Amino acid sequence: MSGDVDTKLRGPTAFELSRKVMDDLELRGMAPTPVNYELWTHYLGHPGGALAQEIERLLGEGETITDTVADSLASTHLPRARLTDQIREAGEKLNRELDAVAVAIKQAQKSSEVYGETLAVAGNDLDARLDPSDVKQLVQTLSAATRIIQRENQSLELRLDASTAEVGRLRDRLEQVRRDASTDALTKLANRKGFDDEIDRVCAQAEIDGAALSLAVIDIDHFKKFNDTWGHQTGDQVLRYVAGVIARMAPQPRFAARYGGEEFAMIFPREETAKVVETLESIRQEVASRQLKRRSTNDDLGTITISSGLAEWRSGDTTDDLVGRADAALYASKHAGRNRVTVADQTSKAA
Ligand code: GH3
Ligand code: MG
Ligand code: MG
Repeated sequence: MSGDVDTKLRGPTAFELSRKVMDDLELRGMAPTPVNYELWTHYLGHPGGALAQEIERLLGEGETITDTVADSLASTHLPRARLTDQIREAGEKLNRELDAVAVAIKQAQKSSEVYGETLAVAGNDLDARLDPSDVKQLVQTLSAATRIIQRENQSLELRLDASTAEVGRLRDRLEQVRRDASTDALTKLANRKGFDDEIDRVCAQAEIDGAALSLAVIDIDHFKKFNDTWGHQTGDQVLRYVAGVIARMAPQPRFAARYGGEEFAMIFPREETAKVVETLESIRQEVASRQLKRRSTNDDLGTITISSGLAEWRSGDTTDDLVGRADAALYASKHAGRNRVTVADQTSKAA
C-alpha cells in the first residue's frame, strides 16, 4: 500500500512530471487541489503501482474522482507521507512558538536587569545625599523605570497568554492527527492500525485477567460483483451502510474496525459466545433484509449479504492465532454458501 509511495521519482524530472500532472488534471476536468495534485504525482510518477492500478480501474469503470473518492484514495495509499507532513508542520509551528516565547522572556530578563541597576544606583544616591530636590529627582527616575518594567511585564504576559492558546491549538491538532491516523476516512470506523493497537491491548489484558474475549471478522459477499454492476461510488455507500450497522452494534467495550477493503472486525471483550453469535446473527439479518437504493437516482440495488467468522481467545494465543482462527471460520462461512456466521473450531488450532 504505502510501499507504492516513493519520494524519489523515476522517469521524468520533477518539473516535467509536475507539468504532466497539471495537464492531465485539466484534461480530466479535475480541480488542482493539493490532494488531487499529490495523488496524480504518485499516479503518473509510478505507473503500475498499486495507486495507479486503482485509479486506472476507477477511470476504466467511468468513475469520477470526486473529492470524497480522492480523500479515500489518499488515505489508503498515501497515509504515511501525509501524516508525516502534518506532524512536521505542527512540530515546526510549535518550535516557532517556543522560540518567540524564549525571545520574550529574554527581553523581560534584560528589562529586569536594567530596572535592578536603576534601583541599585538609586539606593547608593539615597545613602549619599538626602537633599529634598535630589530625592524628588530620584523618585521621578524610579517611577519612570517602574512604568517601563510594568509595561514589559504586561507585554510578556500577553505574549505568554497568546502562546498558551497557540500551544493548546497545536496540541488539539496533533491529537486530531493521531485520531485520523487510526480512523478509516470512508466509514469513520477504526482502521487497520486502530484495530491492531486495540487487539494487542485486549489480548494482553485477557492474558492477565483470563476473562473471555472473542473476535469476529465480517466480509461482504460477492462485493466485487456489486461494484462491477453498480460502480465503485455506490459500493462505497454500501460500505458506509454496513459500517453503520456494525458500529451501532459495537458500543464500548466492544470495538469495531474496517479491517480491509470490504472486511470488518469486531472485538467482544468479556462476553459469552452465545451472546456474541446472537449479535452477529442480528447484524447479518439486518443487512440481508435491507432493500438497498442508490441515493442519487433511487435505483433499486437489490440486497447484499455478509459472512462472519468468530473465534474465542485462548490463553497463550498470539493476536495472529486469534485472527487466523477467525479468518478460518469466515472462510468456512464462505465455503458453506455465505450469508452465515461460523464459530471457529474450539479444539484445534488454525493453520
Ligand atoms: P466473497 O464473497 O468471496 O468475499 O467475494 P468478493 O467479491 O466480496 O471478494 P473479493 O475479495 O474477490 O473482492 C472484494 C471486492 O471488494 C473487490 C473490490 O471491488 C471491493 N472493494 C474493496 N475495497 C473497496 C472500497 O474501498 N470501495 C469499494 N466500492 N469496493 C471495494
Ligand atoms: Mg467479500
Ligand atoms: Mg474480502
